[in-house]
Amino acid sequence: MSVSEWFARNLSYPGHEWLRGRPTGLVAQTLAQLARTPRALVQDDLARRLRATLSFAGEKLPYYAELFRRRGVDPQARDPYGELARLPVLEKSTVRARGAEMVFRDVPGGLIRHSSGGTTGDTLHFYIDRIRQAQDLGGRMFVQQWFGVQPGDRRAYLWGSPIEVKRARIKRWRDRLLNEILLDAFELAPPQIEAHLAKIRRFQARLIYGYPSAMALLSQHARGRLGPDEFPALRAIVLTGEEVTADQVALVREVFGCPVVEEYGAREVGLIAHECPYGNRHIIAPHVHVEVLSQGRSVPPGDVGDIICTPLNTRAQPLLRYRIGDVGALVAGDCPCGVPFPLLRLTGGKVTGFIVLSDGRLCHGAVTSHILRDQPGIVEFKTHQRAIDVFEVLLVVDERFRPETLRLVSQRYRRLFGAQVRADCRVVDRIPPDVSGKRRYVVSDVAPQTGAGAIVDRPSAPEGSPLPIEPHGEPAGHR
Ligand SMILES: [Zn+2]
Repeated sequence: MSVSEWFARNLSYPGHEWLRGRPTGLVAQTLAQLARTPRALVQDDLARRLRATLSFAGEKLPYYAELFRRRGVDPQARDPYGELARLPVLEKSTVRARGAEMVFRDVPGGLIRHSSGGTTGDTLHFYIDRIRQAQDLGGRMFVQQWFGVQPGDRRAYLWGSPIEVKRARIKRWRDRLLNEILLDAFELAPPQIEAHLAKIRRFQARLIYGYPSAMALLSQHARGRLGPDEFPALRAIVLTGEEVTADQVALVREVFGCPVVEEYGAREVGLIAHECPYGNRHIIAPHVHVEVLSQGRSVPPGDVGDIICTPLNTRAQPLLRYRIGDVGALVAGDCPCGVPFPLLRLTGGKVTGFIVLSDGRLCHGAVTSHILRDQPGIVEFKTHQRAIDVFEVLLVVDERFRPETLRLVSQRYRRLFGAQVRADCRVVDRIPPDVSGKRRYVVSDVAPQTGAGAIVDRPSAPEGSPLPIEPHGEPAGHR
């Protein structure tokens, strides 16, 4: 059952955001306004936002105050980009070691604890605030309107839900009032896929949001039996959380018959860029300043390098010049869509596999991130499914790690995957890169019994946000 889109758009959605203290609608309006503003004025606005972020960090946060002094950073200088470039790139290890000195405890609405550990398998704990949540949600509202999807329209999320709260009643009610349904990406055997497809049709979703690999699995299952005529209400499918391949996009488009676009984000930073109807990825520049560096130096558009992000506007724990761990290039030139926000191209990416279980279940690999990322002291992880009931779990840890966590992790694997499962957890010095050169935090040697064998380990998607509770807003946070 769903409420009318009018009701959700005008009453339940704005009411929900108001109750959560998030100016989501205002954020979306501001982005829409800036998108129609002449480029020179937009540049002024972005520079002002960066200057304000630098000033705040220098005044309120001891880590940056000291750094600014040492490096001679003047937040009020005419060229805030030049001042930003005086700062070193911020690594995850520095955030782990000195994160407390970057936190603003008096942030309006309070600190919201958050952790990443999505597709790279390296975990980080940090804080976000209501503004950051509103930016992710309002940013999506803004970009999805490019495809005719309005706030309150029916949305289906093919996502991993936090295991513990998966079936909480209150959440189901909230979803109903907001016109959202959750299709569990941790349950992807053929009977569940069939049920997911039936739900999408019955619900008449306007938009589906999900992991590329999971969406491709659904499409492969439906191909030849279901076609675009079965999904007349669909206006867009948004893929995120892993590398998106051209094959996946073609397959999903063939079955569902609507635009299939990529969202790029990260839990630490939020929504970073989104594909427009012309196939270009626009950086949501009023929310995040993106640099591309190679060997520590900024490179011109077209040259590939490390993606470095400076979130603007949020104040809970500003990560200035933060290394996301992805590689890409800025793209020169304007987009025919007319949106004056710069363009980004991603190269390479992270890949997630599926886990196959003896009871026939097929789980998206992000499920392991849910088990591991909240354990203190785990810095990096990788799960290798060696046989149907045998898992090898490699952990890189720091000084906060407690030995009993090994037992706890094994227990959680058994609880989730079955009592017969053996999970060998080991602490290692480092996790070697995959032979393919891809970054994979879940690898399975087991082929599913579903005819979907080719999908296992299929390159899928970028990082983003596997955020279960709120996709990016929790990462992949949506809500
Ligand atoms: Zn465009």
